[in-house]
Amino acid sequence: MALVATDQPLFLSNRTSPMTAQGHLLFSVTCVLLAHKAELTPALADASLWHLVPMALASALLPDLDHPHSLLGRQLPWLSGPLSRLFGHRGFTHSLLAVGMGVWGLAQVEAPWLLSGAVKDALIVGYLSHLLGDWLTPMGIPLFWPWRRRFRLPGLPLRSGGGYERAFCLLTLALAGYWVHGDLGFAAF
Ligand SMILES: [Zn+2]
Repeated sequence: MALVATDQPLFLSNRTSPMTAQGHLLFSVTCVLLAHKAELTPALADASLWHLVPMALASALLPDLDHPHSLLGRQLPWLSGPLSRLFGHRGFTHSLLAVGMGVWGLAQVEAPWLLSGAVKDALIVGYLSHLLGDWLTPMGIPLFWPWRRRFRLPGLPLRSGGGYERAFCLLTLALAGYWVHGDLGFAAF
């Protein structure tokens, strides 16, 4: 799927609202199931899903720390407040630069008993799943921040925050789960 730029202004309505926290959590599980099954990294391939899924869930909401009213932002106002003022919602934390800094930061932690390779990879997958989820919605994300141009799924972006979003997240999760545990020959994809 190609990226497409959009100059859609940053305003909130039913059509342009971001993916919900519930949607992001479901989608992070889908993504880590796929990453595990597709053996995205050796560590992800070898690790148990019992270890990977909680880590993906743990990082799936981190990008929305830039919004004081997000689920995580409400728990950590001392962090979400400054982040919101500095970057605005869906700014820096929703960019590849933030992912790169996160990957670099995790690489500096050399404590396998605390953060194994699989744990680090699952945290990254969870974070990326959030960006991918928001990219699917009409509002898009500033992938190459500080360039403020937003990118979103071309064509028919996912209508966020309602039944469409829930159905999409549950369906993709069910398909991913079936691929991981079933034998439908989807491996060819
Ligand atoms: Zn977000």
